[in-house]
Amino acid sequence: MKSGWVDRDAKAMVADGAKAGIDPDVSLRIYTTRLLGRDPKLVLHGGGNTSLKTTMRDLLGVEVEVLRVKASGADMASIEPAGFPALRLEPMRKLRALAAIDDEELLGIERANLIDPRALNPSVEVMVHAFLPHKFIDHTHATAVLSVIDQPRSEQICAEVFGERMAFVPYLLPGFGLAKKAIEVFERAPDCEGLILSKHGLVTFGETAREAYERMIAFVSHAEDFIARNRKSVAAAQPARRPPPVAEVAPIVRGVCSEKDDKTEGAWRRLVLEFCTSNAIVDFLERKDLARKDLAQLSEAGVITPDHTIRTKNWPLLLNAPEPERMAEFAAHAREKAQEFTTRYRDYFARHNKRAGGNKTPLDPLPRVALVPGLGLFGLGRTRQDAVIAADIAEAWIECVADAEAIGRFESISEADMFDCEYWPLEQAKLGARQEPPLAGQVAAITGAGGAIGAATAKCFAAAGAEVALLDVDRSAAREEANAVGPHALALACDVTDAGSVSTAFAKIAEHFGGVDIVVSNAGAAWQGRIGEVDEDILHKSFELNFYGHQRVAQAAVRIMRAQGTGGCLLFNISKQAVNPGPNFGPYGIPKAAALALMRQYALDYGADGIRANAVNADRIRSGLLTPDMIASRAKARGVSEKDYMTGNLLGREVTAEDVAQAFLRQALALKTTADVTTVDGGNIAAAMR
Ligand SMILES: [Zn+2]
Repeated sequence: MKSGWVDRDAKAMVADGAKAGIDPDVSLRIYTTRLLGRDPKLVLHGGGNTSLKTTMRDLLGVEVEVLRVKASGADMASIEPAGFPALRLEPMRKLRALAAIDDEELLGIERANLIDPRALNPSVEVMVHAFLPHKFIDHTHATAVLSVIDQPRSEQICAEVFGERMAFVPYLLPGFGLAKKAIEVFERAPDCEGLILSKHGLVTFGETAREAYERMIAFVSHAEDFIARNRKSVAAAQPARRPPPVAEVAPIVRGVCSEKDDKTEGAWRRLVLEFCTSNAIVDFLERKDLARKDLAQLSEAGVITPDHTIRTKNWPLLLNAPEPERMAEFAAHAREKAQEFTTRYRDYFARHNKRAGGNKTPLDPLPRVALVPGLGLFGLGRTRQDAVIAADIAEAWIECVADAEAIGRFESISEADMFDCEYWPLEQAKLGARQEPPLAGQVAAITGAGGAIGAATAKCFAAAGAEVALLDVDRSAAREEANAVGPHALALACDVTDAGSVSTAFAKIAEHFGGVDIVVSNAGAAWQGRIGEVDEDILHKSFELNFYGHQRVAQAAVRIMRAQGTGGCLLFNISKQAVNPGPNFGPYGIPKAAALALMRQYALDYGADGIRANAVNADRIRSGLLTPDMIASRAKARGVSEKDYMTGNLLGREVTAEDVAQAFLRQALALKTTADVTTVDGGNIAAAMR
């Protein structure tokens, strides 16, 4: 591992900081923290932490000694000064006199000693930083070091790899107890340059930011060299069988890793997937020297560092390699394995909750990582972001375990220790107290998402917690609207008049999110013509888009929904023309009427699969179908103002794309409603459904 320190960058950071009144030590603390944070081999997603001891003025202007420590859950790669809350150092140090302290009490003391009472909570590992005397302290869970220390003889191996430069701290749950142990160990070896925290990670320290950082890099490099020197040769992977496409496997995995919501009939607790693969991952899952039994054993061996339990649980779901011609068999196998997993998780919870006093609340028992030999791995999470984190951690797990096995035998902490970490309130707090939005865990695909109604629907569904895929024939329009939704929205080109384009787009959705739960089939365009005289070609074109487009989208979605086996929801934009034809609007209204019949047919044919089908009958919405020019000309033709034209309904209110989006959302949430048409037109009695 190479040092990322660049003198010029460090100086620039100090100079920029000085302009904003930031102390040079703080600027350098930020500089090396970011260096550590940007390397996934050192730090992953909020893991790791750093600190600085310095002085600053408190709110009354009195100079005090402070500990500036990374805030809990803050991302080191992009940390700012506010990511280092400042605590009065002296009172924190005095806590060493206590034999033990309750977590909540400790957090209360920390908050009472913050210089800025509005500051973020300090890292859960704050006390290690408080008790050790050094000015700069860096702590990471570097993968190479974990491969060396996650071993049965880790203390001897550490002595061999690091000599006396590193002192060894036996495993303890992160927190106050570990901090006390760490300072005891340091005081017995005051010349050491850092500490190994057994089965957890390492700490380095120094009088300057650079010294602590360079020591971290040096020790990680020692571990890397040791692994390279001592690696047993590993047989090459078996020639890979041709695996089925990810888009075929993902909905099966997603479906079996869901559970029925006991409280609400028809509701499911679902997860979003992130697929990840590499030669290293595939090789690990196919290794010749590992019998199948060994891989199963390894997969149950546990996490590489304790705080990963909150992201990946303690074990992945290990599946058999799927074969393209035997997907039904794979689905049955996956279901059985997933059930075994959840049963085992519930048993694990019950067993350890009893030991820990019986006052914990169980987390959902669903896997957060699925290993699929021949293909790769899936990270699973309630949001796309959580799925990505789980996948990254699973990839690091494979790398670390493969190296640990190459030099010895991988050994994690005990199951009881894993439980204590997983259910430690301070670890759970990193995930944030989440009041989940109503569509959390669900994936919604919207066609015509570059247009007004599609874009408003994508925003509305994302705000309700869904992961969204925006499809449009104009990819850049989809991209633009997806950017407005947020970083996790997926933009795809999709021409619904082309069956190949639709199936490609839905395969991409399944690859990206693991599947789909809600489809808003919204793409459409208007053609006019007096029906007795209109060119047949116009009718064909309109049917291709306004009828067959819906059919292709619904068919592609139903295929994925049935593979998941957790129901689903098809929503169609049918327009008021479907029920209330306008003069010379036959070419548009007739396929829309057929789309209404199509919706009812889906409701009928797939109700038993839990797939609902509904439609919105909306009218007079400002959009690509009703442009400002059209509004002006129609208002003129009727001899009314544009405003009166747009509000020409029973309620006298203009109907917006957001109103239509809200109607789709209500239909998506109404678990006992199917074959429904919701009218969103401000009141037009001639277009009323009944
Ligand atoms: Zn740690």
